Amino acid sequence: MEFKGKNVIVTGGLRGIGKSILLGFASKGANVIVFDLIDENLNETRSEVEKFGVSFDYFKVDVSNFSQVEKVVEEIIKKYEKIDFLVNNAGITKDNLLISMSEEEWDKVISVNLKGTFNCSKSVVKYMIKKRSGVIINISSVIGIMGNKGQANYAASKAGIIGLTKSLAKEVGSRNVRVNAIAPGFIETDMTKKLPEEVVKEYAKLIPLGRMGKPEDVANLCLFLSSDKASYITGQVIHCDGGMLM
Ligand code: NAP
Repeated sequence: MEFKGKNVIVTGGLRGIGKSILLGFASKGANVIVFDLIDENLNETRSEVEKFGVSFDYFKVDVSNFSQVEKVVEEIIKKYEKIDFLVNNAGITKDNLLISMSEEEWDKVISVNLKGTFNCSKSVVKYMIKKRSGVIINISSVIGIMGNKGQANYAASKAGIIGLTKSLAKEVGSRNVRVNAIAPGFIETDMTKKLPEEVVKEYAKLIPLGRMGKPEDVANLCLFLSSDKASYITGQVIHCDGGMLM
C-alpha cells in the first residue's frame, strides 16, 4: 500500500480513531489535512506526522457548518489541486434516554455526525468527480445498526451515515469514486473512556475476540478500503468490532 503524492482530509483527526487514521496515511506517504475544533494536540500531531516526511495542514473547522467546510475545501484545492481521500470521522455523543433527551442534544449529534458527513462529502466529491478518482470513508458505528439505550440521537446519526454512504456510492460509482462506511464496535478512545466500568465489562462479554478494539484496528481497515486493493469495493459497511455484531 503506497499513497505517495496523494492527499487526504481526515475530520476529527487530532485524537482517537481520527489521529490513528491520519498517522496511518502519513506512514504510507500521503499528505494529511485535518479538520478539528480543539487544537491542544496540534503540535504533537504535527511532529508525529512530519517524521514521515509528508506535509501536514490543520484547519479549525466545525464540520457541522456547511459554509465553513465549503470555503476551506476550496482553499485546499487551490493549494493541493486534488483531494484523493476524505475520511469523515468527526463525531460526538450526547447520551440520554429519548424521554429525557433535549431537542438540543438531538440536533447537536445529528448536525455534527450526519450533517457533518454530508457537508464534507458534498464539498469534496465534486472535485473527485472531475478527477474521475477518489475514495470517501465514513465512520459509522455498530450502534447505527443495532441501536442502543440512551443513544437514539447517536444511533440515528450513524444509521443515517449508512444510507448516505450507499446512496452516494450509487451516484458516483460511474465516475470512479468509491464510498464505503466502517462500523467500529468498542474502540479504546476518549469517547469510550466516558463509559462506566460496569458497562464496558458487560460489552466486553459480547465481543468474541474478547477485547476492546484499538484505534489502529479501524485505521488499518480505513487504509485498506482507500487503497487500490479495495478497488472493487463500494457502498459497503464493514464492521470492525471483534465479532460483536454478526
Ligand atoms: P473522540 O476521541 O471523541 O474524537 C472525536 C474527534 O472528532 C475529536 O478530534 C473532535 O475534536 C472531533 N470533532 C467533534 N466535533 C467536531 C466538529 N463539530 N467539527 C470538527 N471536529 C469535531 O472519538 P473517537 O472515539 O476517536 O471517534 C471517532 C469516530 O468513530 C466518531 O465518529 C465516533 O462516533 C466513531 N466511533 C467510535 C467508537 C468508539 O468506540 N470509540 C465506536 C464506533 C464509532 P475536538 O477534540 O476538537 O473535540
